[in-house]
Amino acid sequence: MEKNQEFIVTIEDMNEDGAGVGKVDGYIWFVKDAVIGDVVRAKAMKIKKSYGFARLMEVLEPSVSRVIPSCPVARQCGGCQLQAMSYEEQLKFKERKVMNNLVRIGKFAEDEIHMLPIMGMEEPWRYRNKAQFPFGKDKDGNVIAGFYAGRTHAIVEAEDCLLGVEENREILDIVKQFMREMKIEPYDEISHKGLVRHVLIRKGFKTGEIMVCLVINGKKLPGKERLVEMLTGGDGKDRKGQGVSEQGTKGLEVKEQETSENEAKGYISNRHVNRNGIKGMASISYSVNQERTNVIMGKEIVNLYGPGFITDYIGNVKYQISPLSFYQVNPVQTERLYGTALEYAGLTGNEIVWDLYCGIGTISLFLAQKAKKVYGVEIVPQAIEDARRNAEINGIDNAEFFVGKAEEVLPEQFEKNHVQADVIVVDPPRKGCDAVCLDTILKMRPERVVYVSCDSATLARDLRYLADGGYVVERGRCCDMFPGTVHCEVCVELCRK
Ligand code: SAH
Repeated sequence: MEKNQEFIVTIEDMNEDGAGVGKVDGYIWFVKDAVIGDVVRAKAMKIKKSYGFARLMEVLEPSVSRVIPSCPVARQCGGCQLQAMSYEEQLKFKERKVMNNLVRIGKFAEDEIHMLPIMGMEEPWRYRNKAQFPFGKDKDGNVIAGFYAGRTHAIVEAEDCLLGVEENREILDIVKQFMREMKIEPYDEISHKGLVRHVLIRKGFKTGEIMVCLVINGKKLPGKERLVEMLTGGDGKDRKGQGVSEQGTKGLEVKEQETSENEAKGYISNRHVNRNGIKGMASISYSVNQERTNVIMGKEIVNLYGPGFITDYIGNVKYQISPLSFYQVNPVQTERLYGTALEYAGLTGNEIVWDLYCGIGTISLFLAQKAKKVYGVEIVPQAIEDARRNAEINGIDNAEFFVGKAEEVLPEQFEKNHVQADVIVVDPPRKGCDAVCLDTILKMRPERVVYVSCDSATLARDLRYLADGGYVVERGRCCDMFPGTVHCEVCVELCRK
């Protein structure tokens, strides 16, 4: 086979990245966007010794799992690798991927690990509470917002990502209108000119509070008062006819009904309800980023409206989220995943618990309500500042946080200060736990270890280490935090033998 040659292949499997896998004369082809069960015509793009990459040209016989992606730019964007698969099949794909890793890398027998059914979403769309849209121009010179196409930095217009909230589009419309009025140019990477680079939008799903932060290539935002006025409806003028679509208005009505349950629970105050602006607009700011960089946010935030943060809840724990804060992007599934971690921790109120890789303390504060004492460890100092403030605003006084590496703080506290642990929870980044961290856990001999993982390959490796060190994998459960994508979170409980 030569480059650019076309061939027909049956897709028999899918790899970890969601690409279809098929064989022709024993040679393996990876075909992105092909679904297991498809028969496709593909074009050879890259040929290696024992495998190659091909481009999907045509689906000749669609798989029973294939659906028409709801998003018109799903393939161009590439953010949702599994959108051409039914949601049911996506969930099966994820469970299979996790189990494969546990068996292949962790060397566990399939029946050795009791995996409960994956927690999928009832409504696997519009689950993200955060969006960052880059700004640019189309070929006619109009200001557009969207996403970067593939590996390039060309912007494809897409203002209604179906993973994001409906308000995003309405907010982008207002920002574009504002830019037209003020004759503000979007940023251009090549010339390093223009002002507006990105717009960050966040929404508290339980409170309905919305944050908008413009990332700009400058220290000042001309007409900033006008932006506030337009987003909040502050002048009382009706924005209708200024580019806000009918659909946007409908979206608002639906939202009002949806949030009423949260209103009843007292999560929502009425102070942010605004008929003319964006409902829930609670924080407007800009971030100064004058660097030539791919990093989106600048370090400096200039507040224009509101207290500088929005508030949201996961379970009954309250969080204040500023433009630079980390916060889980799918709050609905976060609550279920961390709820599972809490259940697996099996707390009675007398336990000393460690939450390693604790971020802003989401799990720590969940656990603190049922434990005697919780220690959190996290490498990013700002996240720990957030964790401490979050503990404070929730009146939680049995949580203590350390800035540092888990593999340094934990041994130090154990060896020097003889701190104990009844339960240790870990939620490491993709590379998993450091060996020193795992060794210390084994030395501390907690009754239970709860492992929350975003990468089942490193999870499998670390579970093997703990299993060989005297722990039994009791049960586990996948949680679909990112429908449409190949990513899957897993929560596992281990008990000391
Ligand atoms: N449960 C957290 C999120 C955990 S994500 C929450 O809900 O906020 C993993 C975290 O591990 C990140 O915050 C990352 O900054 C942190 N991290 C990465 N390496 C670390 C290390 N060696 N020691 C401690 N924390 C680390």
